[in-house]
Order: sequence, then C-alpha cells, then structure tokens
Amino acid sequence: MITKPKGTYDIIDKEATKMKIINRAIDYFCEFYHYEYIRTPIFESRDLFHRTVGEETDIVTKETYDFKDRSDRELTLRPEGTAGVVRSFIENKMYGTNLPKKFYYNGTMYRYERPGNGRNREFTQFGVEILGSNDPMIDAEIISMPYRLLEELGFKDLNVKINNLGSKSDRENYKNALKEYLAPHLNDLCCDCKKRFETNPLRILDCKVDGESEILKNVPSILNYQSEESEKRFKKVLEYLNYLDVDYEVDDKIVRGLDYYDYTVFEIVSSKEVLGGASTIAAGGRYNDLVEKLGGPSTPCMGFACGLERLSLAMEEIGNYEKPALDAYILYVNEEEKIKAILLAQDLRGSGISVDYDTTGRSLKSQFKEADRNKARLLILLNSEDLQKGLITIKDNLTKEETKIDENEIIDYMISNG
Ligand code: ATP
Ligand code: MG
Repeated sequence: MITKPKGTYDIIDKEATKMKIINRAIDYFCEFYHYEYIRTPIFESRDLFHRTVGEETDIVTKETYDFKDRSDRELTLRPEGTAGVVRSFIENKMYGTNLPKKFYYNGTMYRYERPGNGRNREFTQFGVEILGSNDPMIDAEIISMPYRLLEELGFKDLNVKINNLGSKSDRENYKNALKEYLAPHLNDLCCDCKKRFETNPLRILDCKVDGESEILKNVPSILNYQSEESEKRFKKVLEYLNYLDVDYEVDDKIVRGLDYYDYTVFEIVSSKEVLGGASTIAAGGRYNDLVEKLGGPSTPCMGFACGLERLSLAMEEIGNYEKPALDAYILYVNEEEKIKAILLAQDLRGSGISVDYDTTGRSLKSQFKEADRNKARLLILLNSEDLQKGLITIKDNLTKEETKIDENEIIDYMISNG
C-alpha cells in the first residue's frame, strides 16, 4: 500500500466540514474588507524565498523544499505567501497607481518541519497583504481583521501579542545592545543561537529551545531602542486598536520567524489546550523594505498569515461539526421515476437546494434508510401513477407529514419550506 508522505494529511470527514466553514468565512470577510483574491505559484525561484525570508532564518536554513527541475532550474516550494505576492506586485507593475493594493490568498505552504500537533510539512495559510500604505490604521485593520474573523468562527479566548521592531537603524541599535547583553551568556545558549548571535541575533528571541530561559527573559527591551518617530507610530497603532476594542498585550519578545519584518509585528494566540506549544493561530507584521529589496520602488506594506489546520484543530473545542444535512432525498423505483428523479434533482440543485438520490439500485426500504443517514429534511416520493397526473408527494422526514403537490410548484414549495 502506498501511504501519504510524512507531515501531510488528507482532509476528510469532520475536518473537511470545518475547512469549508473556515473557507467560506474567509471569502465572506475578505469581500467585506475589500481584499482582492490573488493566487501565485506554489513553486517559485529559490532566490525569492532565500532573499526575502532570510538566509539565516529557520525556515530557509532548515525547512525549505529546494529542488531542481529537469532543466536544472533552482526552485523552492513556497514556505509562506508574502514573497510570492510581493514578487507578483513588482512583476505586474502594480505599484504605479491605485494604491494601496489589498490582497488575500489561501493556499498550501511547505516546510520541512518535525510534524506534530498543529505542525505539518504541507499546511494551508490564509493571508492578507496590503501594499502601498504606511498609515497606522492599516496596522490596526490587519490585526483586527483576523481577530474578528476568529471571533466569528467561535473563538472567545483570543489575545493579540504586539511589538514594535522599528526601522532598520532602530533594530541595528537594538542588535548591538542585545549582543552586548548576550555575549557573557553565549555558552548557555543552544547551538543554533550561538550561530544566530553572529548572523542574526534578533532571531534568538524567537528560539523554540532557549525562548523560556532566564537569560532570554531578561534581555533588554527592543521598545527602549526606538526612535521618536517609530514610538509615535506604534502609539497610534495601539490607539486605533483600543478604538476597535481588540484585546492586545504589548510583548517586547515577539520578533516573528522571518527577516523582512519591521515596525509592527503581532501574533494572535489562543489558549486552547489542543494547540499545545503551537498556540499562535495568526501572525504578521509590517515589511516596509521588502518591495524595494526585491527590485520594486519603495512601498510600505503590511500583512498577516493564518494557519488553517491549527485554526481547525482549535475549533474542535468550540463546536460539533457534522456534515451539513441534505435538503431533500428523492426516492424512486422504476425507470420512468428514475428519469424524473435526475431531472428534478438537476432543477432543485440549480435553485440552491441540496438534493441526492440512490445510484446503487437500493430497494425502496433502503432508500428511506439512506435518506435518514444523510439527514434529509424532506423526502420526495416519486410514483408513476401520480407523475402521470403531474403530482409529486413530499414527506417531512421529521414530522412524517405527507403533502401531494403539483410538480410545477415543487421549487417554490421547497424554497418556502426551507
Ligand atoms: P511557529 O512559531 O508556530 O513555528 P511561524 O513563526 O513559523 O510559527 P509563520 O511563518 O508566521 O509562523 O506562519 C503563520 C502561521 O502559519 C502560524 O501562526 C501557524 O498558524 C501557521 N503555520 C506555520 N508553520 C506551520 C506548520 N508547519 N504547520 C501548520 N501550520 C503552520
Ligand atoms: Mg515555524
């Protein structure tokens, strides 16, 4: 038997129902927030991710699926969504007019990670990117949007952790202070952090191994290394979040795992136990330098990404997700009734009514059982004699009440009894 690759999964049964609920909520929310759907390739040139996410990040050093195609092109399966959107923004010259561009994507990402609760090698991220505005109201919207979406999906325990990474020079000042503080403790840090100390010291704050150690708990706060402009900007973001009634907490240790972030960064965390150590459901931040770094004109941007499997896992504790019930099940016996069944099903389905019928030659008795198994609300009982008079019997599967109606009235009947 061939089995699925490690770290991948099939979305079936309850998970499939939950994913549908989540995807509908995403499309619905994004429409009202006025974000355009964008789809970029699942693989891109290797350089794109290595340059944007950062050569010294965990994602790039340990987790990317890099491969060569048959013509020796260096490619990478996308580990995240922002780089592709920014590449597309530049390549399609969207920077000229009509800014900001507001996009959302929803697709699979690939990271060679140790699979576990809420962590897979193939997973799905929904994310939003707003390109071309540096107004703090964008920061507030990018944070409040996933917060409200998660609330809509039933979450009541959400907390936003927010931090300010400031400009490049603010971060340089901070990096120096951080290195100065960490230098005497180097021997107590993990192997990765020893390397990060030289290559990318900010990443040390994001370390899964050292994260909880006393050394890291007492690091200098990045908030004390901000310029006046950056501090003012951050205050404005928090002010807008207060107006929007978003429950946040400033956490000066949040740096996120990607190199392109500056100014505001945030995580939306749920306390649900099923999530274990993977409690961050959505996360994001500003990336004002990335467009320029990839060869476009200077364009301030902000975005977030939300892991759908993690979200789905946490939803397990919120509700009971059964397959949706069927509006109607059509029962028939002979060929004449069968032809009517397929025609009627087509008409009803076309009118937005969910319908099914037997396709395996079941007896009438078994068809009734099938209707129950599929939780059909109404039964449509076809019978040749009635059909010749243009009549159809409808039975309410709950009250068992039967009504005979004119076959031309069936759609109206179904809609008004829906
Ligand atoms: P973590 O700290 O949990 O590893 P991250 O910093 O790698 O997260 P991002 O790259 O910002 O996370 O991705 C945003 C969201 O995507 C995460 O909050 C999570 O919901 C989801 N996510 C990231 N990696 C995985 C994975 N391997 N499997 C499932 N979901 C993931
Ligand atoms: Mg990670």
